[in-house]
Amino acid sequence: MSGGPSRCVIVGGGPGGMLLAYLLARAGAAVTVLESHRDFDRDFRGDSLHPYTLELLDQLGLADELLRLPHERARYFRFHTPSGPITTADYGKLPGRFPFVALMPQARFLDFLAAQVRRLPAAQVRTGCKVTGLLHDSGGRVRGVRYRDESGSRDLPADVVIGADGRFSRVRRAAGLTAESLGASTDLLWFRLPRNPSDPPDADVDLFFGRDHYVGLLTGIAGWQIGYSLPKGGYPAAREAGVAPIRATVAELVPWLADRVPLLTDFAQTTLLSVDISRVPQWWKPGLLLIGDAAHVISPVGGNGILMAVQDAVAAARHLAPAARAGGPLPDHVLAAVQAEREPAVRQVQAAQVRTEKRAAAARETGRPIVPAGLLKIVTMLPGIRRRAAKANAYGPVPPALAPEILHRAETGGHDSAGY
Ligand SMILES: Cc1cc2nc3c(=O)[nH]c(=O)nc-3n(C[C@H](O)[C@H](O)[C@H](O)COP(=O)(O)OP(=O)(O)OC[C@H]3O[C@@H](n4cnc5c(N)ncnc54)[C@H](O)[C@@H]3O)c2cc1C
Repeated sequence: MSGGPSRCVIVGGGPGGMLLAYLLARAGAAVTVLESHRDFDRDFRGDSLHPYTLELLDQLGLADELLRLPHERARYFRFHTPSGPITTADYGKLPGRFPFVALMPQARFLDFLAAQVRRLPAAQVRTGCKVTGLLHDSGGRVRGVRYRDESGSRDLPADVVIGADGRFSRVRRAAGLTAESLGASTDLLWFRLPRNPSDPPDADVDLFFGRDHYVGLLTGIAGWQIGYSLPKGGYPAAREAGVAPIRATVAELVPWLADRVPLLTDFAQTTLLSVDISRVPQWWKPGLLLIGDAAHVISPVGGNGILMAVQDAVAAARHLAPAARAGGPLPDHVLAAVQAEREPAVRQVQAAQVRTEKRAAAARETGRPIVPAGLLKIVTMLPGIRRRAAKANAYGPVPPALAPEILHRAETGGHDSAGY
């Protein structure tokens, strides 16, 4: 057909874009990743690698190497209510090699993935390249990107552009695709406190519910990552009030952290996450596909953002790879197939998150608890419930399968460029 495989340009080297680059290049496509930042250093961006992701990397022959990097392993997901702790999910009950959620700084995960992509001859990762617009042909089809690097503005032609550039996607805007908000009632302030050897050994991923706020705790190699809930738009008022009310709430809800809350002295130690739950009605147009946060933003409650981006990449690679290997522009039906496969799962996850957001808003208004502790306690005692909850979170509602030809290359150890 053409002189070689299609030129795939992926905008954004986050978990979704970087994994898709790896899978497509491994399947024989020619891939360039353009990432606006010079490196992958980022904080408070979600560090959770679910069993699905670990099993996927294992199939690709990469999990052992990844897990040699420093990380923590979370076994439980727990709610702490006025009537005591409730374990809602126990990953330890999952079959398979990875009965845990690995918590690894996202920067290290991305460094690792970028190194794997760079080992493949058909792939390039270019950092310090900020995409500023799209190129179109006379029929309106997307045929490449315009980007800026240190030497100025450049054009890069492409047979397909994949917008994996996150929640504020420039590609999405340039394509005239608009995300529709599904409503979020909460914002989150993130900060860190150190771990002490005397901290509860089984605290991993824990949510502590109070009257007006909840506090989320995430274990990690850099200590406790703490998410403190604010009502949507409540940041200016919280800032005005200073860190004292935050310290008091954390100390009240998590008494074993009381000795360390004085370390939070300034708002400069916090990062605001404006929680959003939104989705683009159509994830593609001729020559262009959106994946991950660019197509759908997910609330961090449940830690599903990376999992959804990773699963989008797996599905996209399976649909796109055969056409990309053949060469030339990718047909619309291939792009549409990615959305058709992934949207039901994303819808399901977002619907659950919207329900949680509504409960949080109602709890703030009425003073009633977000979680009906008594009922939840009984339900989670039923046989198999904690395993089922762990499985649902570990794999998502519709886990996509890896394309057989990518799997085959992994099985044959193929970091090779044979055939392309
Ligand atoms: C504060 C915070 C906490 C979170 N906590 C969790 C959590 O605990 N668990 C979880 O699973 N998820 C969490 N998330 C969500 C998670 O980080 C995202 O869902 C996930 O990273 C989405 O991956 P992605 O590849 O789609 O996009 P991103 O990870 O957003 O990657 C997009 C990439 O595109 C690059 N980019 C942007 N614009 C351009 C451009 N114009 N040109 C070139 N490159 C560009 C960016 O620099 C970035 O590297 C959190 C998010 C935030 C903000």
